[in-house]
Amino acid sequence: MSIFRSRSARALPSSASVVIIGGGIQGLACAFNLWELGVRDVIVLDAGYWQGGASGRNGTLIRGGFGTPEWTALFQFSNEAWSRLSRTLGHNAMFTRRGYMMVAETGRTADMLHSLAPVHDQCGVRHRMLKGRQVEEALPAIDASQVKCGLMLPDGGVAPHHAGMKAFRAACEDRGIDLRYRTAVTGIERTGGRVSAVLVGDHRIAADSVMVAAGGHNPVIAAMAGVGLPGFGMRIEAMALEPVRPLIRPALALIDSLCYMHQTGRGEVVGGTEVPERPRMSLSADLPVMAATAAVYARLFPALRAVRVLRHWAGLIHATPDYAPIIGEHPALRDLWFSGGWSYGWAGGPGTGILLARAIAGVEFDSRLRPFAIDRFERGRPLNDPAIVL
Ligand SMILES: Cc1cc2nc3c(=O)[nH]c(=O)nc-3n(C[C@H](O)[C@H](O)[C@H](O)COP(=O)(O)OP(=O)(O)OC[C@H]3O[C@@H](n4cnc5c(N)ncnc54)[C@H](O)[C@@H]3O)c2cc1C
Repeated sequence: MSIFRSRSARALPSSASVVIIGGGIQGLACAFNLWELGVRDVIVLDAGYWQGGASGRNGTLIRGGFGTPEWTALFQFSNEAWSRLSRTLGHNAMFTRRGYMMVAETGRTADMLHSLAPVHDQCGVRHRMLKGRQVEEALPAIDASQVKCGLMLPDGGVAPHHAGMKAFRAACEDRGIDLRYRTAVTGIERTGGRVSAVLVGDHRIAADSVMVAAGGHNPVIAAMAGVGLPGFGMRIEAMALEPVRPLIRPALALIDSLCYMHQTGRGEVVGGTEVPERPRMSLSADLPVMAATAAVYARLFPALRAVRVLRHWAGLIHATPDYAPIIGEHPALRDLWFSGGWSYGWAGGPGTGILLARAIAGVEFDSRLRPFAIDRFERGRPLNDPAIVL
């Protein structure tokens, strides 16, 4: 029996103020915040099953501090939104502020981490540089001889996706927001330079605005509307080890090894490593990523060498040329909005939902969103960030 209300038996409406395509964290956060701003006539359409997108398959790590002011300003705002999310939604999103450490194994990365202090100060991110014994104290399980330094962000942490998503969904349903899973958008209509409707098979829903948050499928949805969108769908993978005693307290980004990881409350070490591969729209998980992740764990965490892999899975993200999000109205089609390009979309969800809802509702276009505009590549303003693990 589902704990959620089922609307599947109800007919789809023939119009809505805002149609949101995609019921992952970006779609739900935007829907919730639109309602809070008084936009009540919102419908969320999702092609898949509940939590079938990346929002139900991610590493669950959350941080505010990155390597550029643009990324940091947006993600710090979202980190703050995570820290009050359970209160905002009235449901437990289970964010735990256990700290997030960026680890440098090389001198080059150590220099990069040292250079971040002014950016983090400017954006209000608390940070502490750890070296030598301090690294061992914060992270006793790591082979500290291989670590140059660690930049600790004490306000970062993790939120399990089942809890975060359930909290958003329950808050939306408390307010009567119409959420439809297993309801694929098959077409988008445009009239006179603006978006006018979405199609679900033969059914037409007229819309004042359409917000696309379809993850790895964003470019396909853009094509339905006859517009281009930078980037492509790409799978990334993660794995969980069998539960062991508490070994790793903070969430970790091992920048040089392109690896992220944390240990859950149940004791499972969850994380993944990026390996070069051709972009694939596939949910199959295979050996290269598992082997690469295991090799990083075994090299840096001797205690994990004997621990077995419990689960291994893949999810799809929308990768942009700079791996930064794409947020805002499409420059070629009025009233068509995107929240895409997310490789850190779990961390960025709650904050972006607030800011994007304000933009769509016509309240204001926040300056933190501006750098992430869709046309930044044409304007020669990519947003590559040195502190991501992709
Ligand atoms: C293995 C892995 C680890 C990750 N780790 C982290 C992490 O630690 N921290 C972090 O911040 N981020 C992480 N991410 C990234 C993060 O999960 C995503 O950036 C985020 O979930 C994106 O949310 P979204 O709502 O945009 O997309 P999704 O959650 O993917 O939702 C998109 C939805 O659109 C729907 N859709 C697609 N096509 C259609 C259509 N035609 N009509 C209607 N609906 C459609 C899909 O069914 C899907 O449910 C990770 C991702 C993966 C895969």
